[in-house]
Amino acid sequence: MVFDSDETGFKVTGSIEACEYTIDIAAFREILIAWGREHFRPFPWRLTESPFQILIAEVMLHRTQAIQVVPVYAKFIERYPDIRSLAGATREELHEILASLGLRWRIDLILDMTTGLMSQFGGEVPREKRDLLSLPGVSDYIASAVRCFAWNLPEALIDTNTVRIVGRLFGLEVKDSSRRNRRFREIIQAMVDPARPREYNFALLDLASQVCDKKKPCCIGCPVFGYCKHDALPVAKQVADIRKCESG
Ligand code: SF4
Repeated sequence: MVFDSDETGFKVTGSIEACEYTIDIAAFREILIAWGREHFRPFPWRLTESPFQILIAEVMLHRTQAIQVVPVYAKFIERYPDIRSLAGATREELHEILASLGLRWRIDLILDMTTGLMSQFGGEVPREKRDLLSLPGVSDYIASAVRCFAWNLPEALIDTNTVRIVGRLFGLEVKDSSRRNRRFREIIQAMVDPARPREYNFALLDLASQVCDKKKPCCIGCPVFGYCKHDALPVAKQVADIRKCESG
C-alpha cells in the first residue's frame, strides 16, 4: 500500500517509512500489544463493549483526566445504564452527578446528544462514523474511539498523545497543528493493527500515559525504544530525559 508519496514523502507496505526511516510495523504491533496486555489500565469503560457507555465515557474524558472521571462515570452509569434511562433525566439530575467534578459544561451536551440518539437513531448508538459525527459533541476522536472500543473497528485515534508518539518514533517535528496534518493522520491510521485494533489502541494510549510522557519520556524500559527515532536526539537530551524520568 502506498500513500501519496509525492506530497507526504512516505509509503506503507509491510513497513512504515517516514523521513527515510522505516519500521517493521508487524513487529512493532506485536511488541506494543504484548506490553499493553501487561500494563492495561482497567478503567470501567474499558471493561464494557456497550457503545452507549463507551460514548458517555469518551465525552467525559474530553479534556479531563481519567482518574477524575472514574467515580463520576461509575455513578452516572449506575443511574443511567442505557440511552432510554438517560432520556428521562432532568438537567438538575445530571447536574447533581456531573457538576461536582467540573463536568458541568457537558450537561447540555449530553442532553442534546441523548435527544439526537432518540430522535434520529431509535435510541441506539449508530455504528457509522458519519452518523456518530452528526451527534452534538461527538468529535472525530470520540467517533473513532467509540467505533474502535465498542465494535473493534480499525480506527486511528488522533490526538496530542498519539501524534506525540508518532512524531518521536519517526523523528518528525510535532506542532499544535500536527493533529490535522494528513501525514500524521495517515501514519497513525496505517499503524493500527487491523486484526486487533482495540488492543492496539489501548496499548498506544497506555504507552502515552505511562511511558512516553509529554515532558518526561521514560525511554529506558520503553517497549518500543528500539524503533524510536527519539534515540537519535542529542545524547545530552537523552540523558536529561532519563534523569527527569528517574527522578519521577
Ligand atoms: Fe517515547 Fe522514548 Fe518510547 Fe520513543 S523511546 S516512544 S520517546 S518513551
